[in-house]
Amino acid sequence: MKKTRILLVEDEPDLAQVLADYLVRDGYEASVEGNGARALERIRREPPDLLLLDLMLPDLDGLTILREVRRTSRLPIILVTARVEEIDRLLGLDLGADDYVCKPYSPREVLARVKAVLRRSSGPEPAGAGAPVTPPLVEIDAENWIARVSGQRLDLTPKELRLLQALSSRPGRVLSRAQLLDLVYKDDLDVSERAVDSHMKNLRRKLSQALPERELIRSVYGVGFAYEP
Ligand code: CA
Repeated sequence: MKKTRILLVEDEPDLAQVLADYLVRDGYEASVEGNGARALERIRREPPDLLLLDLMLPDLDGLTILREVRRTSRLPIILVTARVEEIDRLLGLDLGADDYVCKPYSPREVLARVKAVLRRSSGPEPAGAGAPVTPPLVEIDAENWIARVSGQRLDLTPKELRLLQALSSRPGRVLSRAQLLDLVYKDDLDVSERAVDSHMKNLRRKLSQALPERELIRSVYGVGFAYEP
């Protein structure tokens, strides 16, 4: 069977090599490219099955590469950034990345995200315009404050909706209470981690009412929460 090919665009060779070795041990073919312009050329010449793309590169930045690739391709892309607070801004830009990983990361975490993205993207290829598309499990229309689970509309408070958005846009990733505070409550400086727990409790209750057979948000004891689609 042909191996799944992953291209790591990363200018820190040691970091990239550790991750590449880890992916290879798990049966992937992984290669590293540290130069943005060369990476773009390589992607055009020989598109990988998944791209792990660091945002901060010395020559061409990751966002430029992402935009260029997206003009012609739906190739799965995981963006890597060193700043967790940047993810919200990136989500707002709606650039078409499939997932986001924050440095420092554990190779194990990245592997889990790679698998999740490949699983999601390996569904039947749309047969062109008008092909039916399976709706995502969780849909969030942040502009109109509407959230749906399996097509069912949820009655969420703005904080609950933003918590769900923060978690569901990072499937499988554990977010700590502090990270959630940064992402969801950045305008309320006096909110405590206890408030996160209380909003999370209500959110999880509403989710389990809508979808009793699944636990969409898992509590990770002592660490935080993760969305597990
Ligand atoms: Ca970098």
